[in-house]
Amino acid sequence: MIYVEDEILGHPRTLQIQARFPDSQVVPCARYGEVFNRRAQSFRLQKRRPSLILAKKHRGFVHEAPEGYGFPGLRNLTFSHMLNCIYDCRYCFLQAMYRSAHYVVFVNYEDFQWEIEERIRAAEGRELYFSSGYECDSLALEPVTRFAASFVPFFARFPKAWLELRTKSTQVRSLLDMEAVPNVVVAFSLTPDEVQQSLELLTPAVDRRLRAAERLQERGWKVGLRFDPLIYNEGFREQYRRLYAQAFEHLQADALHSVSLGPFRLSPRFFRTAERLYPDEPLLAGPMQELDGAVSYRRDLEAEIVKFCTEELLRHIPSSIFFPGLSNVGPSAAPAS
Ligand code: SF4
Repeated sequence: MIYVEDEILGHPRTLQIQARFPDSQVVPCARYGEVFNRRAQSFRLQKRRPSLILAKKHRGFVHEAPEGYGFPGLRNLTFSHMLNCIYDCRYCFLQAMYRSAHYVVFVNYEDFQWEIEERIRAAEGRELYFSSGYECDSLALEPVTRFAASFVPFFARFPKAWLELRTKSTQVRSLLDMEAVPNVVVAFSLTPDEVQQSLELLTPAVDRRLRAAERLQERGWKVGLRFDPLIYNEGFREQYRRLYAQAFEHLQADALHSVSLGPFRLSPRFFRTAERLYPDEPLLAGPMQELDGAVSYRRDLEAEIVKFCTEELLRHIPSSIFFPGLSNVGPSAAPAS
């Protein structure tokens, strides 16, 4: 079933997306919130059979990134063409952020681009860093949304504005169909195989993500790596050591755009919602503490894993491309894929 807001029933992107699901019933609605924000919805049940909702965004297209996040010296901004994700990571804040697990796609990309262009012009030549996918995975639904196919050529017009596409997916076909754009970074989120298998439900295996990253790098795209969130367990040393070796077998370290890592973090409210949704989830029963408005691993354990992973990473990459602060945003640790 596809819900479509009345106002965009005839929008070309609506028709293009609908055409991919010829057997789906189309249900018109006045505003997406009628479906998405309904009371008494079960996120867990809906996650098994989510519906697609096509909507129009009216305001708030671009947001300032949270303080302390992003590339030093640049103004960092975020935007989301979609709410929710086709994957199901147990540490993701999206499961606690919305009542609904349905996917909302805002089809009016032109309005996002208009506001982005305004921000770029207002910056008068200063560099801006736009992270997409604050409330979704940037590329996971690319065959349906054609988000990158639309926004990458748009950003190619503005060399001083960076676009980061953050993903756990392997959906890079539309990028491979284009020439590499120098101000676009395709950032892959990675965790060890054991973590992917236990906590990142429905996501592609880590090796498949690395192959997608490798293909992009071979074609001249800038690739970033986001080791976020770091997941603590007894075997973490061996797991992360193996992950880094695996990553740098596929990728040329000196050609990477940036590498970051981020400790596990959730707001206390989101953490408690996640606990209610998944009371048997070992991750949520782990050695956590609430401090400074966030639930995280106990500080000593967090310091241990951050130190180990930083030192191991720096055996593979130059420190000039290591940006620990980049990961403090995104649906994973705090809010993108
Ligand atoms: S962490 Fe990223 S990939 Fe996982 S469910 Fe959230 S948005 Fe999707």
